[in-house]
Amino acid sequence: MSETAANTAQTGANPLLAPWKTPHQTPPFSEIAPEHFMPAFEQAFADHSAEITAVTHDPAAPDFDNTVTALERSGRLLNKVSAVFYDLVSAHSNPAILEIEKEVSLRMARHWNPIMMNAVLFGRIAMLHENRATLGLTGEQMRLLERTYTRFHRAGAGLTEEAKKRMAEINERLAHLGTSFSHHLLGDEQEWSMELAEGDRAGLSDSFIAAARAAAEQRGMAGKAIVTLSRSSVEPFLQSSARRDLRERVYKAFIARGDNGNANDNNAVIGELLALREESAGILGYPTYAAYRLEDSMAKTPDAVRGLLERVWKPARARALTDRDEMQAVIAAEGGNFALAPWDWRYYAEKLRQAKANFDDAAIKPYLSLDHMIEAAFDCATRLFGITFAERKDIPVWHPDVRVWEVRDRDGRHKALFYGDYFARPSKRSGAWMTSLRDQQKLDGEVAPLVINVCNFAKGAEGQPSLLSPDDARTLFHEFGHGLHGMLSNVTYPSLSGTSVFTDFVELPSQLYEHWQERPEVLQKFARHHLTGEPLPEDLLKRFLAARKFNQGFATVEFVSSALVDLEFHTQPAAASRDVRAFEKAELQKIGMPEEIAMRHRPTQFGHIFTGDHYAAGYYSYMWSEVMDADAFGAFEEAGDIFDPATAKRLHDDIYSSGGSVDPEAAYVAFRGREPEPDALLRRRGLLEAPAA
Ligand SMILES: [Zn+2]
Repeated sequence: MSETAANTAQTGANPLLAPWKTPHQTPPFSEIAPEHFMPAFEQAFADHSAEITAVTHDPAAPDFDNTVTALERSGRLLNKVSAVFYDLVSAHSNPAILEIEKEVSLRMARHWNPIMMNAVLFGRIAMLHENRATLGLTGEQMRLLERTYTRFHRAGAGLTEEAKKRMAEINERLAHLGTSFSHHLLGDEQEWSMELAEGDRAGLSDSFIAAARAAAEQRGMAGKAIVTLSRSSVEPFLQSSARRDLRERVYKAFIARGDNGNANDNNAVIGELLALREESAGILGYPTYAAYRLEDSMAKTPDAVRGLLERVWKPARARALTDRDEMQAVIAAEGGNFALAPWDWRYYAEKLRQAKANFDDAAIKPYLSLDHMIEAAFDCATRLFGITFAERKDIPVWHPDVRVWEVRDRDGRHKALFYGDYFARPSKRSGAWMTSLRDQQKLDGEVAPLVINVCNFAKGAEGQPSLLSPDDARTLFHEFGHGLHGMLSNVTYPSLSGTSVFTDFVELPSQLYEHWQERPEVLQKFARHHLTGEPLPEDLLKRFLAARKFNQGFATVEFVSSALVDLEFHTQPAAASRDVRAFEKAELQKIGMPEEIAMRHRPTQFGHIFTGDHYAAGYYSYMWSEVMDADAFGAFEEAGDIFDPATAKRLHDDIYSSGGSVDPEAAYVAFRGREPEPDALLRRRGLLEAPAA
């Protein structure tokens, strides 16, 4: 804790400023109210600024400890308050919180600008960096110094005063625009729902209707059943509803989020964001924003990214077009007299899959209850890394649906707390993510992490379990893989902890973990019928695994088109994308996007690249990481055991526990003994083989 004497007067009243007396010093959510945040942020900003001033005014010559380590120690209160605040903003907001977020994002930019562009501070860091070889640093310290120098340099710390002033203005405006973007998207998602009358339910499974009833109840429409714009409502609806007119309505509403010409419209926001990003890249001396972003990544250049995406694009597009023609034939055979439209794709793909692989998602769902899949995710972690999980009911949470588990290591020592917030609700942003309330570090004694997974699964009706689709189950493992990256972290310095790695490396631990979810060894044990407890029948399991490669052309096209458009947004002059819709259309035309498929995230709902800059010019990262994860799982297959202890130990030591303390390429090679072999990705997606006849 870094509370100073100055704030003791307020600490009694503000739980964010008082020491937390909860078990494991977790945030006391039930005591925290929206009005506590601004005063806590004020105090946190003041504390942090004072800590920075102490570093810049230190009369002693700069050394690693009085500069780099001092920076690592600074800002603890700010981290603590921010973590709680942003957890609520994304997972359980309300109008008061969202209003405060507008203020906080602006104040955050105003707070960080003068720190990141502080000439004296940067002078000290640069001098250490210059002499780094002579400082006698450990490997982790060297990496920390390099990362610190790079971070300040890339933020503009070396610019002229005039350029810094403009950068500061741009950063403030970007912070505001990013917040607006996400508020607009949430607004459009909250405002829309479609009621399903008894006659509107043809084709829908019982579990879908149960989830649709639960969704209605959450919105104060008890007794009704609704489709919402959450992905786990939309996708199964499009896949199974026999009502073509309703599919069209839902599809159109889903892809129009943020693009409705109402108060939530994101088109103008995007135009301004891109212009400002371009300007900031120019000030920093880069030809484009993508060039700026990618310099600090594994990929390094836009050309390297484009090369990977184009290599995948061709076989994926070809496969999608073949699938489309087959679906058109199904429509004709059924006597349909219409061309396959985008809202038909999932529906007919599912029919085709049922015909070819004799498998449909609805058949497996009863075997994939949320509880069983959580157990499966935990069990794999126990077998790989020796950690165990025990539920705790005494840890305060932000919503009654949130569950908490204590994680212990092989020797029974406390390792982390894991929070699972799984169900969709109107107060939650769409999507799924991992975050933390506190990161692992051991700079001044062991600090155990508090790791969060948030998903948007449909809740089961009263008394019924939540049943996952295969995609949901995969998402659960994905986010849990990120969670492990945070929980297994074993570094000294906080800024290198867990997921503090390059964006195109960060999806490796998450995507790699998905592989265990679809292994027979795991499914046979945990995929049990939620009513009878029967294990997944052998035959259904076989058909399920065979069906996994189905419709991969579509999934790859959806993804790669989004990644390519992201890259073009940040490579071409911003003036070219002033009309966002026209730009999207032109870019998709250029790559020959099948008309029946939309981007996975159309621009006005592309939160990855527009709510902040984390994935800007970086959406390709999932695929970059996939090259590694597809190849990495091969290490277990080659060992002949997907829980092979020696391979698991290397995976733990080199990937999951090392955080940002080593260079990612070196980390991968240390684990695998060589660079990744790129064809593993195409093979995993079934895109190397000729399309099945
Ligand atoms: Zn991820």
